[in-house]
Amino acid sequence: MAINVTRSSMPPFEEYCEEIRELWDSHWLTNMGAKHQQLEADLKAYLGCEELVLFTNGHLALENVIEAFNLHGEIITTPFTFASTTHAVVRCGCTPVFCDIDPVTYTLDPEKLEALITEKTVAILPVHVYGNLCDVEKIGEIAARHHLPVIYDAAHSFGVFRKGVSSACFGDAAMFSFHATKVFNTIEGGAVCCHSEEIRRRLCDLKNFGIHDEENVPYVGGNAKMNEFCAAMGICNLRHLQDEIEKRRLVAERYDANLGKIPGLQLNAQQEETTPNYAYYPVVFDGFHLTRDEVFAKLAAEGIFPRKYFYPLTSAFACYKGTPGFNPRNTPIAAHMAECVLTLPMYADLPLETVDRICEIILK
Ligand SMILES: *Cc1c(COP(=O)(O)O)cnc(C)c1O
Repeated sequence: MAINVTRSSMPPFEEYCEEIRELWDSHWLTNMGAKHQQLEADLKAYLGCEELVLFTNGHLALENVIEAFNLHGEIITTPFTFASTTHAVVRCGCTPVFCDIDPVTYTLDPEKLEALITEKTVAILPVHVYGNLCDVEKIGEIAARHHLPVIYDAAHSFGVFRKGVSSACFGDAAMFSFHATKVFNTIEGGAVCCHSEEIRRRLCDLKNFGIHDEENVPYVGGNAKMNEFCAAMGICNLRHLQDEIEKRRLVAERYDANLGKIPGLQLNAQQEETTPNYAYYPVVFDGFHLTRDEVFAKLAAEGIFPRKYFYPLTSAFACYKGTPGFNPRNTPIAAHMAECVLTLPMYADLPLETVDRICEIILK
């Protein structure tokens, strides 16, 4: 059987059935019903954030938060990310300005940030890549000096805490994805966490056609509401989150034991004072006797499918061909990482013997 890069977490079947039983009594399937309210409360308690708004997916959460901050201009971000981050900026009518990344955390390099700020800059949109937290302190300092909001793409960092503070709390807002492939899923889903009650209210209106109440429509909103079945899935999955992360830790440690201290392999560095979520297991093949693409092909031949994540850079996408500023050469470290990195299979139920087999194939 094929081993894919990920496998979705699911609660016991009976637990989910029990959770959705009430929906057959209420016949209330969406529009901020009981499950939606419950999940919002559960997530706020877990993440320790002031405000939280659920969405139908992470991408629309990101588009909606860009709109909620009323941003029009340049947004400094990273090309070493999933398509969603860059597309959200462009689809909201803003211009992404690409900052290079730190070669250890793969996140936006604050040392290169300030030089990109101009009078057109309206926000900073860094990504907590693989669940590695950005240098939130330095980014925060620079943003404050220039009076710019910081919106984090925290899609990878659900369950990551620094000094006990969750990744939901950094910056002016943080977006999570609860897609099936993420550490915590609601099948499809997402959320925005923020500190401002004003932004929360705008997000609630924006995700429901801009309708504030029956007779008052202050925004040209779309539809990005989470339905009750997805919320119920989230309520169940959240109960099992710590177990899932613990199992992922064992997988990561098994990989570390097999692949540590091998010349030409860069493993993901543990961050200080940070509780990780083991969302991904990236390996950089740089100076190894095989290239990343050769390792990928070798594993694929054995029915194992890791992912070239992130490759290509979003600044190299065909849809942006010829767009000024969309040039991987402007971000050489990100361009290099995109050529060398492979994320290996990582999920809670991945058998440790399979981890050994994957490592054997890579090393032999
Ligand atoms: C998954 C992901 C998204 C998009 O989330 P969806 O819930 O799939 O819409 C955005 N950014 C990053 C970095 C992601 O990994």
